[in-house]
Amino acid sequence: MEQVFTNISEIFGEDVFNDTVMQQRLPKKVYKALRDTIEEGTELNLETADVIAHEMKEWALEKGATHYTHWFQPLTGTTAEKHDSFITAPLPSGKVLLSLSGKELIRGEPDASSFPSGGLRATFEARGYTIWDCTSPAFVRHDEGGATLCIPTAFCSYTGEALDQKTPLLRSMQAIGEQSLRLLRLFGNTTSKHVTPSVGAEQEYFIIDREKYLKRMDLVFTGRTLFGAMPPKGQELDDHYFGTLKPRIASYMKDVNTELWKLGVPAKTQHNEVAPAQHELAPIYEKCNIAVDHNQIAMQTLKRVATRHGLRCLLHEKPFAGVNGSGKHDNWSLTTDDGINLLDPGWTPHENIQFLLVLCCILRAVDMHADLLRESAADVGNETRLGGNEAPPVIISVFLGEQLEDVLSQLRVKGSASSSIEGGKLYTGVSALSDVSRDATDRNRTSPFAFTGNKFEFRMVGSRDSIAGANTVLNTIVAESFCDACDRLEKAEDFDEAVHDLIKEYATEHSRIIFNGNGYSEAWAKEAERRGLPVMPSMVDAIPALMTEKAVRLFERFDVFSKAELESRAEVKYELYAKAINIEARTMLQMASKDFIPAMIRYSTSLARSAAASTDCGIDPVVQKELLSVLNGYLREAQEACKVLEEGTHIAESVTQGAEQARAFRNLVVPAMDNLRRPIDLAENIVDRAYWPVPSYADLLFEV
Ligand code: ADP
Ligand code: MG
Repeated sequence: MEQVFTNISEIFGEDVFNDTVMQQRLPKKVYKALRDTIEEGTELNLETADVIAHEMKEWALEKGATHYTHWFQPLTGTTAEKHDSFITAPLPSGKVLLSLSGKELIRGEPDASSFPSGGLRATFEARGYTIWDCTSPAFVRHDEGGATLCIPTAFCSYTGEALDQKTPLLRSMQAIGEQSLRLLRLFGNTTSKHVTPSVGAEQEYFIIDREKYLKRMDLVFTGRTLFGAMPPKGQELDDHYFGTLKPRIASYMKDVNTELWKLGVPAKTQHNEVAPAQHELAPIYEKCNIAVDHNQIAMQTLKRVATRHGLRCLLHEKPFAGVNGSGKHDNWSLTTDDGINLLDPGWTPHENIQFLLVLCCILRAVDMHADLLRESAADVGNETRLGGNEAPPVIISVFLGEQLEDVLSQLRVKGSASSSIEGGKLYTGVSALSDVSRDATDRNRTSPFAFTGNKFEFRMVGSRDSIAGANTVLNTIVAESFCDACDRLEKAEDFDEAVHDLIKEYATEHSRIIFNGNGYSEAWAKEAERRGLPVMPSMVDAIPALMTEKAVRLFERFDVFSKAELESRAEVKYELYAKAINIEARTMLQMASKDFIPAMIRYSTSLARSAAASTDCGIDPVVQKELLSVLNGYLREAQEACKVLEEGTHIAESVTQGAEQARAFRNLVVPAMDNLRRPIDLAENIVDRAYWPVPSYADLLFEV
């Protein structure tokens, strides 16, 4: 086989209008002005923007680009783009000039009426603007449609309300940045100029064969299987996790990496995940908004490259019942421009007062707003994943690990902490293996919000969802706790005493959110309820968290969301939920009545014929009769379930109020869907394979 070697350092970022390109191509003054805008948020004048736009266009043309697009993130969870070519009106000579003006770079005006706005903007007020986010670099994307200059943007209504994921995210980054600096100043730091959340999102996904994918309506229309009996083998042997990559997958991952590197996405880790056909891709962490953009690019690249390889990438949170679903672990920390991580405990956390304050503020934030964090991970696909026996439970708790838990308990009990448990050495008993140092804390895999050394890992986010929402909430709730702490400490007469008291107070008052045990156990669900932690099994239960007085006060205080924006988001989410379940229900009805029930009837007919023929020969067709009778039972059950599902769907469709409609889908339609699935999955186990109309779980999960 011919090997093509990839030189990562040569290709990395080659399609990105990054700092190096800017320095090379922009006049010094223009470059300086742009950097000031990126770093300090100073306004960019139109003249400067014209120069930048021109150079960006020239650079993009050299990369083969014919079009540019304002790339934005509406409330659909994915990205949106409208392409404009660089051509201007034809010249008398019959030729055209190519251009991109500063105005076109900075502001776009897509017709906003067809994006979800949750009532923020009626269709007759369709104006919406996309506004260049110069803090996230533009890039040229190459695909089957040629090359396109993609300009990351925020998307707002005519009156400045956020219609997207990015605007509130940027606002929340501003809030946490300001409050973190206040906190650092209190501890004598006078040199750091900015604090930014750092985010690394581990992306899980499934890969299946595209031909087989196309044969299943449920996968095509909903991204997950709505029917399917478990094959004899699932994931119980743990032989897929970290297993050797199959050749087709390895070749796919190689192409994915190459494309991502060219786009400046620092793809770092790849491996097989727990479920068969499941994999993971993790980039190195970056500034929060860039990580959000890069995660969107990663998801799109995973999908696009899969098609080229005759594969299909499933980003749905639970494509297959019975095996693990996919999530996105959102690793989060706070970093200063001069490289200090506020979440780094150092070797002796008990002496690191600044760290302990940061930690306790985060505990407080998560405890006070567990409902909002839970809500931020609510998306339709995540419904079937969260609370399963693999993914994090739906109850928010914090895992701190032995070392920090011990420091906090010293603080609570004795009023001060005087020691930190050390990791020590790891001895294997084999002299040829070196004794390595060991972390002070073991890993915990069941916690939805775990401290992992120098960052928190929020594991609830869905694999298909944008990470913008979760990070917007995280940034804002922590900003609030920092702000409250600073308000008190800035006024304190004795700073040391005040900070000590505050840490102790927070550690005591919010200890109920700490849980180091097994998050999957039933005992925990009971214990959590006893502790008064919010338990919200469904997205429909979680959405109201957006509109509580507490939430409105929080988000308005830090200018992240107005009340109207929050209400609109809740509205959009209810609507998305209802629509998605409606599509799933209709897909099930079609598959049941056009594929499965006819197949069951065909097989019954063949059994009946065989039974008659046997009887003619004087043999009692015991087996045929038994199968026929069992199958007939499933058939009747399926047909009944179809009727109930159809009725439930009609009732839910007729409800007009958003929240009520979502609840109707949740309470009437979802259980009816389960009832339809059951007899058909059971039938799949006994029907002759030749009669089964769609590829089975075994075909999908084990045959790539
Ligand atoms: P795992 O959780 O699977 O063990 P890693 O520890 O390798 O994975 O890290 C997962 C992700 O966390 C990666 O994207 C990594 O870049 C990111 N990460 C590491 N350190 C930080 C940090 N200080 N802040 C935010 N993200 C981080
Ligand atoms: Mg992880």
